[in-house]
Amino acid sequence: MGPAAADALDLEALETALRRQVKELAARTVEAHLNQDHSDATPSHSCSCGGTARYAGRRTKRFATALGPMRLGRAYFHCGECGHGFCPRDRALGLEGSSLSPALMRMVGAVASLVSFQESSQLLEELAGVDVGAKQVQRSAQALGEEVADYERQTREPDDGLSLPATLYLGLDGTGVPMRPTEVAGRAGKQPDGSSRTREAKLCTVWSAERRDAQGRPQRDPGSVTYTAAIESAATRDTDPQLSEFAQRVEREAQRRRFGQAPRQVVLGDGAKWIWGLTGELFPEAVQIVDRFHAKERLHRLSKSLYADRPSAREWAEQRCGELDSGRIETLLSVLAAEAAHHEEGKAAWTYFHENRHRMRYARFEAQGLCTSIGVVEAGCKNAIGARLKRSGMHWSVRGANSIMALRCVRLSGRFEDFWEWRANSKAAA
Ligand SMILES: [Zn+2]
Repeated sequence: MGPAAADALDLEALETALRRQVKELAARTVEAHLNQDHSDATPSHSCSCGGTARYAGRRTKRFATALGPMRLGRAYFHCGECGHGFCPRDRALGLEGSSLSPALMRMVGAVASLVSFQESSQLLEELAGVDVGAKQVQRSAQALGEEVADYERQTREPDDGLSLPATLYLGLDGTGVPMRPTEVAGRAGKQPDGSSRTREAKLCTVWSAERRDAQGRPQRDPGSVTYTAAIESAATRDTDPQLSEFAQRVEREAQRRRFGQAPRQVVLGDGAKWIWGLTGELFPEAVQIVDRFHAKERLHRLSKSLYADRPSAREWAEQRCGELDSGRIETLLSVLAAEAAHHEEGKAAWTYFHENRHRMRYARFEAQGLCTSIGVVEAGCKNAIGARLKRSGMHWSVRGANSIMALRCVRLSGRFEDFWEWRANSKAAA
């Protein structure tokens, strides 16, 4: 501490220097403890190929840890049958396949799920005093995200601590994620030349809304929202032997949330056909609801196309929205049918409302105390995907995007701790 009087101390400099020294001391202590233990040097070790690997001396490797860098010597084994070499201690310590220690890996996962890899690297330096370059953050976060994705695929047990409410909601939505050019080469999209710059990430959200506001309308229950998202196909053809990747994801999330056991199940979406195709098959019992905002937006769009900017456009749209709200869907359909006869967009709108009419009985849904808006799902899309993956200048590979979305969703869903437990157990079991 030196002889300086308390008032003359630069406390910030002192804190920082002391933290560095304490970490350094701890790192040397742990390092020495691990390096004097040679019990891993057995004559042979079984190899994952089924063969027997021979001991071939000690090898030293530098690992980055939460305490700073450590150089660890470990017994190295070489398998003559498959040519593979490995250090069993790396597995024992959770260091296998990485140069980051488990605690540092967890920090990297936490920070990289929130901010860019570059910012992650800076924050790790500033907050934890550890040096992990942006490239290393990216590689490690991606590898961890892939483990999270495995965890998501393998765990279907119901979430602990979430009781089964009277009504559970399941909402699906999609949002475009900006891709690297090589990831979208040859894919049709919305660019003027017909090319694409994005891939659609699809999100499945489950939540409950047992609370009521002052007007008696259902309100999302805090802490009840879980998410899972990925860029993957939602289309299952009749000839496919199994469900599409995304349908399987939705099924897993429903199992974790016990959606199928809820006394009342509700599926919410915009008008997109894939949503109803997928959920109709998985949850035939569920009440299906088209987001009210999307339905109204559709009517406003049609009114502009029918009446341009004339004041009657607004009036027309508001009358139709009123019909929708008050449950006079047959009246609405007959007005649209009249437009459909001489107007292409009118025809498309009639089809949309006709096909979805049983999903737009808003007056009845309201009387039953049901949510008719996908606000929670859209906020989820922004939060789980947009806020991290759609920042300016970002371009993703499908693999990278899926891995960071997996990380983000597991954290936002309150499952990160469970993931670490699963990770530790599965490493121990291996
Ligand atoms: Zn082998």
